[in-house]
Amino acid sequence: MGEAITELRGTDRIIVPIKLEPHTKIRFQCGPGIPCFKLCCSELYLPLTPYDILRLRDRLKLTTDQFLVLYTEPFILPKSKLPVARLKMRDDENKTCPFVSEKGCQVYEDRPLACRYYPLGLGIFRNRDEGRNEDFYYLVKEGFCQGLDTGPEITVEEYRRSQGIPEFEEPVLEWAEIIMKKESLGPIEVPQKSLELFFMVSTNPERFRRFIFESRFLEIYEVDKETLEKIKEDDLALLQFGFKWLKTVLYAEKGVPIKKEIPQEKKIKPF
Ligand code: SF4
Ligand code: SF4
Repeated sequence: MGEAITELRGTDRIIVPIKLEPHTKIRFQCGPGIPCFKLCCSELYLPLTPYDILRLRDRLKLTTDQFLVLYTEPFILPKSKLPVARLKMRDDENKTCPFVSEKGCQVYEDRPLACRYYPLGLGIFRNRDEGRNEDFYYLVKEGFCQGLDTGPEITVEEYRRSQGIPEFEEPVLEWAEIIMKKESLGPIEVPQKSLELFFMVSTNPERFRRFIFESRFLEIYEVDKETLEKIKEDDLALLQFGFKWLKTVLYAEKGVPIKKEIPQEKKIKPF
């Protein structure tokens, strides 16, 4: 791995320009005994994935609406310009995370994907020759974090597994693809309505479910019976369906087919 960078102080932050592979070894140790404990849990721009929202909502025994109002605020992703929800920091001097306490993270088992990755960063490289995306990793070094370059060596993949990253990442792989595609397309104009639909699927499965079953959605889109049964009850299945549908809405991909004949809206007669 790259050499330790020891001259960083306080809020200094650098991205180490070294591409890490799953087998690359890093050294990082963190835990309640360390002097910088919890310093990384304030002043964050912490976007939540749709799966983060499900996990935190269930952990806190809230409805999605309640969770969104109490703990999040809308956020436009800088590169893709797509709207998501991010964790709303407390209104205190240090802008601390709403889930941090004296003892550490109160939602540790359900903490968001971004918290699990730190101090690793995930990058995606588009291999145009082979027509596929390749993941790579890098280290983020901040002046206050004393855990880097300490402790035993561990590979990037071992670190990812020790933090439960695959469990939180796999349900949102298609969602990440949608965002990356928008990034790679550059500053294309997306209709406001499509942005609102992206936000609905990305943040609120209950609203999305009502939208499917209580609007003209099923008159317009072809959805087989088995899928319909699944998405009525199962939030994870609903998310996967939602990501496919977003690909149709945003990029005209075949994700969820449109019916050949769409019934016209009935005209309401006054008598
Ligand atoms: S969710 Fe937990 S780990 Fe993440 S910033 Fe908040 S307190 Fe820290
Ligand atoms: S070692 Fe780094 S990640 Fe761990 S508590 Fe300290 S600042 Fe946070």
